Amino acid sequence: MEKSEKLKDQCAVVTGANSGIGKGVAFALSRAGAKVVVNYVVGETEASKVVQEIKAEGGEAMIAHADVSNEQQVQAMFTKAVKEYGTVDILVNNAGLQRDATIAEMTLEQWNKVIEVNLTGQFLCTREAVREFQRRGPVPERSSALGKIICMSSVHDIIPWATHANYAASKGGVLLFMKTAAQELAPQKIRVNGISPGAIKTPINTDAWSTKEAEESLLKLIPYKRVGVVEDIGKAATWLSSDDSDYVNGITIYVDGGMTCYPEFADGG
Ligand code: NAD
Repeated sequence: MEKSEKLKDQCAVVTGANSGIGKGVAFALSRAGAKVVVNYVVGETEASKVVQEIKAEGGEAMIAHADVSNEQQVQAMFTKAVKEYGTVDILVNNAGLQRDATIAEMTLEQWNKVIEVNLTGQFLCTREAVREFQRRGPVPERSSALGKIICMSSVHDIIPWATHANYAASKGGVLLFMKTAAQELAPQKIRVNGISPGAIKTPINTDAWSTKEAEESLLKLIPYKRVGVVEDIGKAATWLSSDDSDYVNGITIYVDGGMTCYPEFADGG
């Protein structure tokens, strides 16, 4: 397990950190020295387990309940984080979900739920983080930036995805929300960037990799010929959170083994 002090004394809020990528990011940021606020909406036991495990390896963490699409709950989560750790330096907008259906069969409820959590949730958390960065002011000995925000998107912010129109629309929205926030907030020294994972082994997509046949079929879409793991995303999130990426703003890192390189055309199309 690699450890560093790149995020020493900084507080990171990671949404949806009781599962999958969020959990992996929480561990990675902790191993770089950050105190981690492990957000969850359901699954308190799993969230507490993440906190216990972080503490067991010498880190600092706390759980914080909030539905990221609920304004009051998001505000209460940030109040709790600031009360406990003094401020927030890093936000990882990770929480997300799918409600898949064809366009003809998709209910308005399925559409709204995905947009509310995946897109509106990122706005609500970003707004509270920015307000806290502005309230706290610069602390140059901790970070060159006033604050750092990472928006978890998906390769489906640029690859259309039949039967997932709500999800693809939410992630396409995240891409331009992230870029607009980066443009608007850069003069205040707030850095906003995105991570777009390809196929990462987590509970959201178990069907796509849990059998040999499913994994072989998935690998046809991945030039690098391996399915990603949460540690791949944790490393990118740590870099984007640290001063190592201080001149990086408004970009998306596609952590996807080349999925966005049109593998269907590898033999000439
Ligand atoms: P996951 O289902 O394991 O984790 C999603 C997390 O979000 C869970 O902890 C869940 O409880 C939480 N969540 C859902 N609704 C919430 C709400 N209203 N408030 C707070 N938390 C909420 O899936 P994952 O693969 O770890 O997904 C994490 C992020 O990565 C998502 O934004 C997803 O779209 C994105 N992503 C994942 C993959 C992949 O291959 N796994 C690929 C591209 C993008």
